[in-house]
Formats: sequence, C-alpha cells, structure tokens
Amino acid sequence: MSKLADEAFRDSIGTIDNEGKRKFIYPKKPSGRFYKYRKWVSYFLLLILIANPFIKVNGNQFMLFNILERRFNIFGFPFWPQDFYLVVLFMIIGVVFVILFTVIFGRIFCGWICPQTIFLEMVFRRIEFWIEGDRGAQIRLAKQEWNAEKIRKKALKWAVFLLISFGIANVFLAYLIGSDTLIEIIGDNPVNHLKTLISLFIFTGVFYFIFVWFREQVCIIACPYGRLQGVLLDNKSINVAYDFVRGEKEAGRAKFNKKEDRTLTGKGDCIDCKQCVNVCPTGIDIRNGTQLECVNCTACIDECDTIMESVGLPKGLIRYASEDEIEKKTPFKFTARMKGYTAVLIVLTGMLTGLLFLRTDVEALILRLPGQLYQHKGENISNVFTYKIINKTNDDFKAIHFKLKGIKGYLKVVGNQTLKVPKQGMSSGTLFIEINKYLLESDKTKLKIEVYNGDKKIETTTTSFLSPRTFD
Ligand code: SF4
Ligand code: SF4
Repeated sequence: MSKLADEAFRDSIGTIDNEGKRKFIYPKKPSGRFYKYRKWVSYFLLLILIANPFIKVNGNQFMLFNILERRFNIFGFPFWPQDFYLVVLFMIIGVVFVILFTVIFGRIFCGWICPQTIFLEMVFRRIEFWIEGDRGAQIRLAKQEWNAEKIRKKALKWAVFLLISFGIANVFLAYLIGSDTLIEIIGDNPVNHLKTLISLFIFTGVFYFIFVWFREQVCIIACPYGRLQGVLLDNKSINVAYDFVRGEKEAGRAKFNKKEDRTLTGKGDCIDCKQCVNVCPTGIDIRNGTQLECVNCTACIDECDTIMESVGLPKGLIRYASEDEIEKKTPFKFTARMKGYTAVLIVLTGMLTGLLFLRTDVEALILRLPGQLYQHKGENISNVFTYKIINKTNDDFKAIHFKLKGIKGYLKVVGNQTLKVPKQGMSSGTLFIEINKYLLESDKTKLKIEVYNGDKKIETTTTSFLSPRTFD
C-alpha cells in the first residue's frame, strides 16, 4: 500500500464514503470483559437518569431544570435566579472535571458515562441485534428487497424505537417541568395541555431521529466535547490505543499462519483480521492511531483480546494506554498540567461547598423606592421602600412581619395585611419607615431589619435610610 493510501483515513471521517455520502455503520455485536463492565455501569446510570426526577429530598425534586419558570434543583437543593452564580459555578466545576478527566483518561466520559452512548449502544443497538441479528445479518437485511421478513423486522424495530423514544421524552420532560406536573398532566385531559403535548411529540421525534438515523454522527459532528479532543489530549493521556510497536514490529502486520513463527519472520502481533474495525460503532480503524471519531467504547479492546486468545498471543494489543507508554515504554505520570487542573478543581469545589453552606433558605431584599428621597413628618423623617421575600423552603410562611433593629422607629407595610409567602414562592410590596430626626446620625443611615415568621426570626437584612444633612 502506498504511503498516500496509508494516510487516506486522515482526509475523511469513517462514516462518509468516497462520494461524500453517509456510510451507515453496522458494527459487530461486542462481547468481552469491558462490554460486561460497561453493561453494568450503563444499567446503573440509566436507573439514576430515569429515577432522578422522581426522587424527592426534603420535598424537592432531586434534579430539576425548569428553564421556563427559572427554577432549578440540583441534588435536591432548590436554586432560584438569585442563586444563579451557584449554578454557573456548578457548571464550571463540571467542565473542569470533564477536562481534567479527558487530559488524564481521554474520552472515558464518552464511552462509559455519556447518555448518548449509553442509549445508543446499550439500549437501541441491543434491540437492533435482537431483532435484526448481528452485523452480517443486518447488512444482508439492508441490501435485500422489501419482502415480508424485512417489513416485519423493520416495522417491529421502528415501533420499539418509537416507544422508547417516547419514554425518554417523558423523562426529559420530567426534568424540565417537574415529575409532579408531568404525572398531573398524564392523568388529565390532553386537550388541556396542548403545548406540553406538542413539546412531548417534538422531543420524541428528536430522540427517534437521533437513535434511528443520526446515531454516531452526534459524537462525530455535533458534540462540542468531541471537537475539543484535539486540544485536550496529549501523548500522556490514556486512551483506547493500538500498541503499534507490538502490532507492527519490523515487518508489519500480516495474516495469521499457524505454521509460521512470527518471532523469526519479524511480523507484528496484529493478524490483520479487521475484527476491531468491524466492531467499531464509529466505523474507524483504531490501528491508524487516536482519532476524532473514537468514543473510547472499548469494543475493539474486547474484540482484539478474543482474537489474541484464539491465536495464542498475549492480550492487550489494543488497550487503555498513552502514546508515550506504547512508544517509549514510559509509565503513567501525573504531569504538571494534570496537577494544575486538579488544584483548580479542588479550589472550585471548596468554593461551591462553602457557598452552599452559606446560602440561606430565605432571602429578604429591602430597597429604597427608586427616585424617592425622604419626607418630613413632623419630627420624623420617612422613607419608602420596596421589599421582596423569597421562600425557598417547602413550608408556607403565614405571618411575616419586620422589626427595626438597633434604632427606634416605626415600620409600616402598605396595606397592613398579614404577609404570607407560599412555599417555593415569593412576596413583594411596599413599606414605610419613619424615624425621629434626632436619632439619625448622618444623611445616610444603615438600617438593620429583622424578618420574622410568627415568632421565628428567619432573616436579617440591611438597607439605607436617607435624611437631610442638617435639621432646622
Ligand atoms: S482485532 Fe487485533 S489482530 Fe485483528 S486487526 Fe484488529 S488489532 Fe489486528
Ligand atoms: S476505535 Fe475502538 S474504542 Fe474507539 S470507537 Fe471504535 S471500537 Fe470504540
């Protein structure tokens, strides 16, 4: 093979043919040690993913991302728009965590944790194997005429895929609008919830399109994380890698010959069976080195191990290894870059933990009404304020009142009604504060105001009180 043909894989991606058309991948059914582990990890993660919106902590949904109402729960902690800095910090930690992991362990996230890979490889692909058979049978079925067998198998597969996509769309919706609301809607007349129903059908359509047709293209062309690999990985990152030193040796890879002693002929351990290529869900040849399309699914490790075992050679020709480990035989080292990322991660996690502990369940905000200064009321000076009380708890506040702290004065809520704040709700309004002018030490006095629910103090807040510079 010419050098140019050898390097041809660099010019195109594995799922596009020479005419630029989509090449549908029919991977071989994986089996082996890693596949078994991945199955268990996937079951566990699927369980968490599906159960998350139905778990409650202190009455709060464990995970909720209600974008429309701007309500978020993360690990059962309710986050309001006022807590958005915590959500941002949480996301930054997530990104740093994934980067750190990628620098050290390559795309381990893609192969083991990513919901796209889990759903595609562990749910949809397995149903496909069950209905249409292994790689060879699937290729034959795709090529054959539309006869009764093909119609039956395809119709069954698409029906099951549609059903599962509908199920995933429901779970997705439970994350967005809350599981209680979703259950309520399911039990009600669909006509009363047309918008939700349309969203549900759109989500179902998107998931169906992804898992029936778009598939590995999500990882190859749509996923931003996949695009970052080029800058995150280096020679020291651990990846699913082909040991080219052992596989090629001096004479290169060659077909297996029972009678031949490869140590004498100098041929590499790779017997060029191409099983690692056939099993690859992104259609690449890992022997060409680390590639953008590789999602580190480990299927080629399992497949090559089975081949090595059958020809009596040591396993691990394809394995988790860094390029330096393969080429220079250097053992894994915790590099300066890895140390740097770890330090950043520890600092950010510490900050988040601290902020979570400091965060209160109640927020009270009292601000002077914009454009208003002060009013003289006899010997008193009066200021008008707006207040906002946010109740992040799951208990209704039924009797809210305010008390001035450290200074004598008169505080009156406009309307004078008993203030109530519903659970997970907010209340706002206007209030007046009057203070005797001789008690004010400057033209801008800092006031401390305590907020009570019945007899229980729930928050202390501050505001500034304006008065003239001098009094007559
Ligand atoms: S499965 Fe192993 S032996 Fe077969 S082609 Fe791939 S690397 Fe070579
Ligand atoms: S090269 Fe191996 S690890 Fe990478 S996607 Fe293909 S089968 Fe999975």
